[in-house]
Amino acid sequence: MGEYSSISKKAEEFIDHREITDTLRWARENKKNLELVNEILNRAADCRGLSHREAALLLECGHPEIQARIFSLAGEIKEKFYGSRIVMFAPLYLSNYCVNGCKYCPYHGQNSHIRRKKLSQEEIREEVTALQDMGHKRLAVEAGEDPVNNPIEYILESINTIYSIKHKNGAIRRVNVNIAATTEENYRRLKNAGIGTYILFQETYNKEAYEKLHPWGPKSDYAYHTEAMDRAMEAGIDDVGCGVLFGLNMYRYDFVGLLMHAKHLEDTFGCGPHTISVPRVRPADDIDPGAFDNGVPDDVFKRIIAVLRIAVPYTGIIMSTRESEEMRAEAVKIGVSQISGGSRTSVGGYVEEEAEEDNSAQFDVNDRRTLDEVVSWLTDMGCVPSFCTACYREGRTGDRFMGLVKSGQIANICQPNALMTLREYLEDYASGETREKGLRLIEEQLEKIPHERVKELVREKLRLIGKGSRDFRI
Ligand code: SF4
Ligand code: SF4
Repeated sequence: MGEYSSISKKAEEFIDHREITDTLRWARENKKNLELVNEILNRAADCRGLSHREAALLLECGHPEIQARIFSLAGEIKEKFYGSRIVMFAPLYLSNYCVNGCKYCPYHGQNSHIRRKKLSQEEIREEVTALQDMGHKRLAVEAGEDPVNNPIEYILESINTIYSIKHKNGAIRRVNVNIAATTEENYRRLKNAGIGTYILFQETYNKEAYEKLHPWGPKSDYAYHTEAMDRAMEAGIDDVGCGVLFGLNMYRYDFVGLLMHAKHLEDTFGCGPHTISVPRVRPADDIDPGAFDNGVPDDVFKRIIAVLRIAVPYTGIIMSTRESEEMRAEAVKIGVSQISGGSRTSVGGYVEEEAEEDNSAQFDVNDRRTLDEVVSWLTDMGCVPSFCTACYREGRTGDRFMGLVKSGQIANICQPNALMTLREYLEDYASGETREKGLRLIEEQLEKIPHERVKELVREKLRLIGKGSRDFRI
C-alpha cells in the first residue's frame, strides 16, 4: 500500500486507511482544544471550505457552544450560496434485477421472495407521465446491476424515452442516473445520452467493512467501485454525486472518507462532486437495520450535515424521503439543498401503488407526503421549492458551475429560476391552497432579487407564465 495522495489514481491511496485513522485520532486528541476549534470556525466563515482533518475535529467537538456555532454558520453558508431555494426531484426505479450481494439492500441477488420487475419502455412512459402530472421536472433514475436484464443499452433507451415524453405542460428536463460502477466507455455513452449528474454511493469507504457488506458480485471490487467517479469524469461527465449509506460502518470514518473523495476529485479534475447524498439505513424486505450496529442518532446526523455544509460549501447536499418530515425540516435549515418529494421506491410505483405482499421497494419511505404537501410545507417554512434545471441545460456544469458557486454568484441565478419554475408548478399542478401560498411567497421573494433589471425581467416572465408560456430560464 502506498502513501496518502489526493491525486493518486488508486482508491487505496486517495482514500488512505492510515490517513483516516490518523485524522480520527488527531480529532479525538484535540477535541477539547477550543482555541483551535474556534480558529477553524473563524476561517470556515470565509466559505472556502475545510480540510478533512479540520472537519473531523468540528464533528468530534461536543462542546455545546461550538455545536451552536457550527449550526449557525452552516445555516449562514447555506443561505449565502443557495438562498432559500430547495430543489425538488423524484427517484424513478427502472428495474430491481441485481446480481450483487449487498447485505443492506433487498434487491440483492439471493433475495428470492422479492418481486422482480423491470419496466418496459411503455411502462416507463406511464411512470414518467404520472411523475409529470405531479409536477416533477428532475428525475434520478435507479436500477440494479444486471448485465442481462439491465444492460447499458436498456438504461440508454430508457433515458431517451424519458426525455421524449411531453404530456400537457410536463417535461422531464434533467435525468440524473444512479447505476452501478461501469466502464469509461459506458460513462461516455451516458454522457452522450444527456444525463445530468452521475450518482454513485460509496456505501462505506472502509475497505474491510465494504468487502464484508459486498461478499459477491461485481460490486465486491472495492477499487473498481471507488475509482468509478474518476472513470466517469475521464469520460466527460462533469457532474458526479457522491454519498455514503450512514449506519453501515462507523460514521466518523465514512465522513472523513467522503471528504477525502471530494478532495481527490477537486485536485484531480479541478472540480469536486456536484452533490453529496446523506442516506441512512432504513428497513426493507429481508433487511433489518438492527443488523448494522452503527446507527447514527439524529443529533449526530444533523451535525454531520452541518459540518459537511461548512467543509464543502460549493456542493449540493441531497436528502431523500428516507428521512422524516421533522428531520427534513431541520436539515434544510442547516445545509440540505435538494430533496425528493412524493417518492415511490418500488419499480412501477407511481402508476400503481404496490400491494404490501409485493414488496419490491428498495427501502421504506419515511416521509410519505405528496409532492403538493411537500411544496406547501416548504412554502410555510419560507423556502422556495424549485423545479429548476437551468444550469445543466445552459452548459453550466463541472468547473464552470463550480466557479459560479465559489464566487457566490449562483444564488443570483438560483433565485430567479426557482421563482419561475415554482410559478409553473403553481399554475399547472398545485392545489388551491398551495397555489395561493406559493403566489404570495413569489411576490415576497421577488423583492429579494438585488438587481433591478433582473427583478423586472423575472416579473415579466412570471406574467407570461401566468398567461400560459413555459420553460424560461436564466
Ligand atoms: Fe443491487 Fe444496488 Fe441493491 Fe446493491 S445496492 S443489491 S447493487 S440494487
Ligand atoms: Fe440548480 Fe443551477 Fe437551477 Fe440553481 S440555477 S437550482 S444551481 S440548476
